[in-house]
Amino acid sequence: TSGCDEVILTGKELVEKCRKYRFPYIAVDCSYFHLHSEKERKKLVLQLKCALGVVREFMWDEKMVITGARFEELNVLYYSSLEDFLTEKRFDKVILLDPNAENVFDGQRADCYIIGGIVDMSGNKKGLTTEIGKRLEKAGIDFEARKILLRGDVIGVPDRINSITEIILRTVLDGEYIEDAIRAVQ
Ligand code: SAM
Repeated sequence: TSGCDEVILTGKELVEKCRKYRFPYIAVDCSYFHLHSEKERKKLVLQLKCALGVVREFMWDEKMVITGARFEELNVLYYSSLEDFLTEKRFDKVILLDPNAENVFDGQRADCYIIGGIVDMSGNKKGLTTEIGKRLEKAGIDFEARKILLRGDVIGVPDRINSITEIILRTVLDGEYIEDAIRAVQ
């Protein structure tokens, strides 16, 4: 360090720091997999594959994490619980994308965005994303819950995991306005 508390970073450290701040993790929590029907499970795997495709377009494979359920066909980072992943990484800022949240997402930056690995075909999973948040609270993990809105409503926002992934990455990495990002994935 210099006399005025300035930290001099090596090139490698600087690259690491830039990566940490610029490229977030996308964590998809699939711990409610058991609540899905066979048809929904197939859709879930398909959406996860598409989400990995989106992550690859904007970043690289290691930035996607699946927690709570392991899928043979998806060769991505896996943790048996979301809480374990977040506790290990000790991120400064975590955002849970939750359609029932009070606060609105309009491009806030975070080290990790959590998406619920939930497919709604049978209509028995309402409010489940908020349950993910309750678990994090119980584990003492700090996060913000935010909803994505289109013209002031969640109706019209595509709720597929891959679409939510793309809306987030278009907004935080490409600097698009949220409504433009939503329209681009509709
Ligand atoms: N039935 C679930 C619920 O009521 O919590 C919603 C499941 S949605 C099909 C799959 C995931 O996409 C959610 O867990 C959430 O992370 C994300 N998601 C979908 N629409 C969203 C929105 N408008 N705002 C924020 N996140 C959204």
